[in-house]
Amino acid sequence: MNDPLFPAAASHAQVTDRLGRPLRDLRISVTDRCNFRCVYCMPKAVFGKDYQFLEHKELLKFEEIARLARIFTRHGIEKIRLTGGEPLVRRNLERLVEMLAAIRGLDLTLTTNGSLLAKKAQALKSAGLKRITVSLDSLDDAVFMRMNDVDFPVARVLEGIDAAAAAGLTPIKINMVVKRGVNDASILPMARHFRGSGHILRFIEYMDVGHTNGWRMDDVVTARQIVAMIDAEAPLEQAAPNYRGEVAARWRYRDGSGEIGVIASVTQAFCRDCTRARLSTEGRLYTCLFATAGHELKPLLRGGASDDDISHALDAVWRQRGDRYSEIRTAATAGLQKIEMSYIGG
Ligand code: SAM
Ligand code: SF4
Ligand code: SF4
Repeated sequence: MNDPLFPAAASHAQVTDRLGRPLRDLRISVTDRCNFRCVYCMPKAVFGKDYQFLEHKELLKFEEIARLARIFTRHGIEKIRLTGGEPLVRRNLERLVEMLAAIRGLDLTLTTNGSLLAKKAQALKSAGLKRITVSLDSLDDAVFMRMNDVDFPVARVLEGIDAAAAAGLTPIKINMVVKRGVNDASILPMARHFRGSGHILRFIEYMDVGHTNGWRMDDVVTARQIVAMIDAEAPLEQAAPNYRGEVAARWRYRDGSGEIGVIASVTQAFCRDCTRARLSTEGRLYTCLFATAGHELKPLLRGGASDDDISHALDAVWRQRGDRYSEIRTAATAGLQKIEMSYIGG
């Protein structure tokens, strides 16, 4: 029988795609802009001063994002991650956090480069953010600056991490993308620094996201190599996943001093458990990080569609999803005109 308050909920809950995967996580890109120019994400040669970012009126408003989020929860979304671009450059982001935190039962988190975190951590926590992921690719200023390409120092990201910990945005995850020949020498110093801190360091294989970062397989340091390197110094044992579809494989230090994660999106594809959808800054729905096209939701939002209409549209998109890019990646697919990660949401 239909729930009179949520008619679409009854008919559309627990949608699965063509490969039997449910919809569980939503990543929302709140801005396509960023104050960094990481070489693996927004290379300066492409995202330089002439690059056309979206105009403010094109972005989804906070109210529109919150409305979509509520509708998404009808379809099984349990977790929302705010991302970008750099989410903390979007003004008054705390207001959006507050709106999303009001949705019952939602696990709400955010990924940031940490540059503005020292200033914002407490406000985010007070607005209802539960925990946070901070990206940091090295503890060595020269290496880190070469990667962020805007001369941003390590110390200010570490201050941001400390502020987040003090505000209680825990457990904190630290994301490190490893690019061969650029920051692979930072793997062990990073592992040593965060071991015993209570923060979970996660190593991410360098991916062929978008089509501007010049990705080559040779630049990938594999998760297996990273684990072997750390294990040789501080013995590790594998830990069970926290839940089905967790992207990071967990490894625990045998002496009890914490854990690390490795995200082997290139060498050990995890598409078969992928339950993630992405909402772009201007309201397109993408069913894969490596998509070449999305589904417009903004015309529905701004054209008077009811919640049920939007709910039907989401349902239809997910049902026809068959994405499994990482399982079929080749040197040729790496050259496809994929949507940039800063726009689609990392
Ligand atoms: N600006 C925020 C940040 O850097 O944390 C959020 C957006 S960023 C696109 C999200 C995550 O994607 C970051 O942890 C970043 O390091 C990671 N990322 C970006 N480009 C990548 C690539 N080519 N391969 C692997 N991870 C990448
Ligand atoms: Fe900006 Fe994050 Fe991309 Fe780096 S990874 S350029 S911080 S969006
Ligand atoms: Fe999911 Fe696409 Fe990544 Fe596979 S490649 S895990 S389908 S986002």
